[in-house]
Amino acid sequence: MVRRWLFGDQLGPHFLDDPAQPVLLIESKAVFRRRAFHRQKAHLVLSAMRHRAAELGDQARYLRTETYREALARVREPLDACHPTSRAARRLVRAAGVTMLGPRGFATDPAEFTAWANGRSRLRMEDFYHDARRRFGLLMDGGEPVGGRWNLDADNRQPPPKSGHLDVPPPPLPVEDDVDAEVRADLDRWEREGVAFVGRDGPRLFPATRDEAVARLRHFVAHRLAAFGPYEDAMLSGDPWLAHSMLSAPLNLGLLDPLEAARAAERAFRAGKVPLASTEGFVRQLIGWRDYIWHLYWYLGERYPRANRLHARRTLPDWFAGLDADAVQARCLSDVLAGVRDRGWVHHIPRLMVLGNYGLQRGWRPQELADWFHRCFVDGYEWVMTANVVGMSQYADAGAITTKPYAAGGAYLHRMSDYCGGCRYDPGTRLGEHACPYTAGYWAFLDRHRDALRGNHRLAQPLRQLDRLADLDAVVDQEHRRGSHAP
Ligand SMILES: Cc1cc2nc3c(=O)[nH]c(=O)nc-3n(C[C@H](O)[C@H](O)[C@H](O)COP(=O)(O)OP(=O)(O)OC[C@H]3O[C@@H](n4cnc5c(N)ncnc54)[C@H](O)[C@@H]3O)c2cc1C
Repeated sequence: MVRRWLFGDQLGPHFLDDPAQPVLLIESKAVFRRRAFHRQKAHLVLSAMRHRAAELGDQARYLRTETYREALARVREPLDACHPTSRAARRLVRAAGVTMLGPRGFATDPAEFTAWANGRSRLRMEDFYHDARRRFGLLMDGGEPVGGRWNLDADNRQPPPKSGHLDVPPPPLPVEDDVDAEVRADLDRWEREGVAFVGRDGPRLFPATRDEAVARLRHFVAHRLAAFGPYEDAMLSGDPWLAHSMLSAPLNLGLLDPLEAARAAERAFRAGKVPLASTEGFVRQLIGWRDYIWHLYWYLGERYPRANRLHARRTLPDWFAGLDADAVQARCLSDVLAGVRDRGWVHHIPRLMVLGNYGLQRGWRPQELADWFHRCFVDGYEWVMTANVVGMSQYADAGAITTKPYAAGGAYLHRMSDYCGGCRYDPGTRLGEHACPYTAGYWAFLDRHRDALRGNHRLAQPLRQLDRLADLDAVVDQEHRRGSHAP
């Protein structure tokens, strides 16, 4: 029988056609030598691969080598592989003469995406999502969306509860075992040998096996999904998880299938256990956003990741690149950076509106920021960076996939979080000692790009406001002086 080469993000049962098929897994050390990944991300990926090999027993051949090529040279049997998730890995599969099958682990297949996208003047996630709901019959009543509306975000997006915490049980955390102990010892040794990591080591927080992933999904649907919608966009200093699923890592490792998760959510809704707004919001993230981002990685082509239409040329400062949260006084940025340092994970809004927003305002190189996200997050992969970081967060494609840049001042952060209360900066102040770096940075950003953004009707009002700011020159000068210093 042909041996199935499984990459480290193809670990679930759906990557095998026959449960008895022989398997090849390759652990390449060179991957970790080339770039400094978050220590907890390295741990998670190696733990997941080694757990899968242990589950498969004699069925799996597990090779630990410096490079993939070295390992492939040792295998004599014919190999096949599911379509990998990066261009570099696809080149490797092709060059090695491995039979390549279609991709798995995403809901929509590439031919369906291309059929949907071709001939459209504008690609909109919302249209793709409606199409996917129809094709999969998810949350549908005949040909119509359940409840009569496709998107219930208007019922979601509430600010955080005033109590400072959300009344939902925390996600069950995995219990580390001998495999984790071996991974930790190996990574300690690699560090002594000169392999560099970023971030702090800590107990494994994310599923590394199919059983752990299914347990997290079930717990989320039963206990947390109901609160997901209303508090999806909220941020709380004392609660990094809120009601998010924390499923991106197991989904991206291939331990869970997005349709399986979406159908589990729908079942809970049909059983009357979860409100429609939360269910719809979660299903949209899974079969809408996640799949859309995946397909755009391939569809937008090889040059898209280098897009830099706002000519952002500043390099990432050391305090940011090195996750030095203690160097930062702005409470939101310090807390979020500490979350990345300590867990390799923060939820969507801190990624977009705290980290990405800060980089966008300061004109940091989009590609460098994408590389940073890729290395520092437990769920970071190349395919997920392109549209999320280069496109959505940094607007480096000048609006090919979003209608306006995700730039916002302190007022947004004040409304959606509890950070501003104890902060030395004031979200309502743009000039002087207490000027919020996000508020000042927002106006400086609009000023720098006013010509490029002039035609965007969604920015007409802020641009008019910009023209009326009497202290604009002083604000711009202040931001210029702030430069790369930690705020
Ligand atoms: C700047 C930036 C960087 C990001 N980097 C990553 C990343 O490295 N890896 C990653 O998987 N996601 C990334 N995202 C998307 C999103 O922030 C994460 O998927 C989500 O925060 C993961 O937490 P969760 O599992 O609790 O998600 P939930 O909020 O519970 O959402 C459910 C699921 O929907 C999917 N999803 C939702 N939005 C997106 C999206 N925009 N792109 C892809 N999947 C999505 C994820 O699989 C997620 O698990 C990024 C977004 C931004 C703006």
